[in-house]
Amino acid sequence: MRRKLAAGNWKMNGTLADLEQIEALISAHPDPSVDLLLCPPATLIHPAAAMVRDHPLTIGGQDCHAETGGAHTGDIAAAQLADAGARAVILGHSERREDHEEDSECVRAKARAAHAAGLMAVICVGESLAQREALNTLDIIGGQVSASVPDTATGENLVIAYEPIWAIGTGRIPTPDQIGEVHDFIRARLERRFGAGVGRSARLLYGGSVKPDNAATVFAVSNVDGALVGGASLSAAEFSPIIAAL
Ligand code: 13P
Repeated sequence: MRRKLAAGNWKMNGTLADLEQIEALISAHPDPSVDLLLCPPATLIHPAAAMVRDHPLTIGGQDCHAETGGAHTGDIAAAQLADAGARAVILGHSERREDHEEDSECVRAKARAAHAAGLMAVICVGESLAQREALNTLDIIGGQVSASVPDTATGENLVIAYEPIWAIGTGRIPTPDQIGEVHDFIRARLERRFGAGVGRSARLLYGGSVKPDNAATVFAVSNVDGALVGGASLSAAEFSPIIAAL
């Protein structure tokens, strides 16, 4: 049985003052029945990880470099994230695929590096509105999943987040049938490539405009093991009811 996972992506938001939201989250969920992951900006990973040391909430990064170190100004290696206290890292978010021209091969190399450093990789995939309207959604998702997921994946270190680009930060959310179609498809792909063990253990998150008022509907969909939440994860007051809906 897969454990549910509520993950928050703070993106390029948050300063030290916002660590109080993590404090509030811990207080609201002292003994959570689901896994909790929060990915603040890199500047906050170390203090956030120190805050959650005695709590099951884990802290993650939002990106890492594929190399283990060296002359890569501004980048962070997976082992450095782990050293700062991160236990996971989001990879291949559509904002990175777009802003930094990351393709799936690049994401796979980063995921391999994350796995080598002992981090859980939360690999993001998702179609644009134009791709959905052209009825290419499953082709796009299938291509991204096969090229982005490395052979180092296990049931524990692989999470895939399905985030339709048109649903991110827009308040627009796919129907339960649309989410279910993609999640069932990803599950089948993983089972075909990795076999039932890894294929059935890896968790699949939905992301894109998840809010307290739609979380229960999303979580009722088949093969949805949790959510990757952006805007609503910035405040404990909004993230808490989403966690409770899991
Ligand atoms: P929103 O929840 O703000 O739509 O963002 C989703 C997302 O991109 C999480 O990675």
